[in-house]
Amino acid sequence: MFLDLKSGDHWGDPVCKSCKLVIAPAEPTEVLKFDGHNDQQLDEMTGLYHAHCAKPYLSILRALNALGRFGL
Ligand SMILES: [Zn+2]
Repeated sequence: MFLDLKSGDHWGDPVCKSCKLVIAPAEPTEVLKFDGHNDQQLDEMTGLYHAHCAKPYLSILRALNALGRFGL
């Protein structure tokens, strides 16, 4: 059977939102929530990340939450 690699659509395996690679069950993960900022681009960034991939986003998320609202 051929592998049908559609981007972001694996067979129920979680895919990292940052590097787009499947997250192995043993790998540490981080769930980032960018919703509630009324920004579709941020909404789409909400999801599961490898813990190391999430690090740069965590600081962004903290900044956004500190602002309370993404008003740019
Ligand atoms: Zn990753």
